[in-house]
Amino acid sequence: MLTIAIQNKGRLNEDTVSLMRDAGITASASHRKLISDAKGFPLHVLYLRDDDIPQAVALGVADIGIVGLNEVLEKEQDVDVCMKLGFGTCRLSLAVPNNVEYTGLNWFDGKRVATSYPVILRNYFVENNIKAFVHEITGSVEVAPAVGMADAIFDIVSSGGTLIQNGLKEEETVIYSEAVLISNPHIDEVRRREIDKLKFRFQSIIESRGMKYVLFNLPKIHVQEAVSILPGMKSPTILPLAAPEWVSLHVVIHEKDLWEKVERLKTVGATDILVLALENVIK
Ligand code: ATP
Ligand code: MG
Repeated sequence: MLTIAIQNKGRLNEDTVSLMRDAGITASASHRKLISDAKGFPLHVLYLRDDDIPQAVALGVADIGIVGLNEVLEKEQDVDVCMKLGFGTCRLSLAVPNNVEYTGLNWFDGKRVATSYPVILRNYFVENNIKAFVHEITGSVEVAPAVGMADAIFDIVSSGGTLIQNGLKEEETVIYSEAVLISNPHIDEVRRREIDKLKFRFQSIIESRGMKYVLFNLPKIHVQEAVSILPGMKSPTILPLAAPEWVSLHVVIHEKDLWEKVERLKTVGATDILVLALENVIK
């Protein structure tokens, strides 16, 4: 049976649990338990701090794990990144105080940069031939320049609000991160097949997120015009209605295109448009 390591609490926990739930897998919600058996897939679930997940997977304590790509890059453990999961998106950036006249990466030469991601930062400075002092601190990185502990910071940014509050401006984005599924690179064939099944479920869920199932009625004579507006491939489905001059069209549309498509469909005579939530697209 596979073991998956997931964050026990924190920003990734909720989205991880909902991805698993949407994929038909539920595990005990008690965060006090370190390990529990899942229902819906033969799986042990190991609840860890996100810092410990790459190592747990590299050592084979867990076969797979869900963790931010930032932690994978920082820990430099021997794990394979199997797939991106589309949540926990953020970036790791260099930021400097607002009053600094930033002249480009060379500005960092000889400067002290506070961070909780020293490995990623040192690698980045080496690649770019910058000689800066990397000052590792574990929390409240963003206050380091104000209290005189550093000249700049390297930290996680999502909206940028925390930087603004602390009088900092983002100057260089070093990596983009999101939650990823990682696996131990040395697992046997049987486990590999189990992981493939899990990846297939996750992929279906991720692809169906943001998709809507749309049905509408249309005078038969306008079918070609409607089809040209809609996404390609095997869609739409065209069904006859009891009224001989009319048909019903069914199609899957991404949320972001929905209103633009619906407005255009109305101009070619679409009526009675139903937009339904889509749970899963299994290819
Ligand atoms: P743990 O107690 O498990 O060590 P943590 O405090 O290190 O948790 P969280 O703040 O829960 O970590 O963040 C977990 C992950 O969420 C981060 O490593 C990152 O991949 C992602 N993330 C997305 N947006 C943000 C954000 N705005 N701030 C921090 N992390 C974010
Ligand atoms: Mg952590």
